[in-house]
Amino acid sequence: MTELTIMTGGCACGRVRYRAPVDPAQAYWCHCRMCQRAAGAIAMAYCNVAKADLVFTSGAPVEWASSPIARRGRCGDCGTPLTFHYPDSARIDLTVASLDEPGGLAPSSHFGVESRLPHWIPADALPEMRSEDYAPLQARWAAARTGGEEPA
Ligand SMILES: [Zn+2]
Ligand SMILES: [Zn+2]
Repeated sequence: MTELTIMTGGCACGRVRYRAPVDPAQAYWCHCRMCQRAAGAIAMAYCNVAKADLVFTSGAPVEWASSPIARRGRCGDCGTPLTFHYPDSARIDLTVASLDEPGGLAPSSHFGVESRLPHWIPADALPEMRSEDYAPLQARWAAARTGGEEPA
């Protein structure tokens, strides 16, 4: 069992505040196009926590469906991206940059490396995974697919 650290965070305007036990060793990069678009940034840094342990101590994020299988939460006032989750999962990602003290976390892996922008974030020694190689993600897409289109 890994050590969990109680961490706090929130959005830029301060309306939404949260507290959650975080495993500082389990943060990661996501380079997928949907995260890039949703963040307006070249990649997202996340830490993964249990939904049951995440407490919003002020306000709550506004959620939107970024795809048929995923939802993202952001402050309804200032727009800071705060969360990413699959509704069928017991866990949720928090954006590392919204933590009050993100400096204690380090990335453990890269996800969605098929969309990595190597001029900005070059490869390093950390493990990498392409989106299509992550079986739970592909299973969710397969279940959601009804002959319609899939985001590129
Ligand atoms: Zn805000
Ligand atoms: Zn992503």
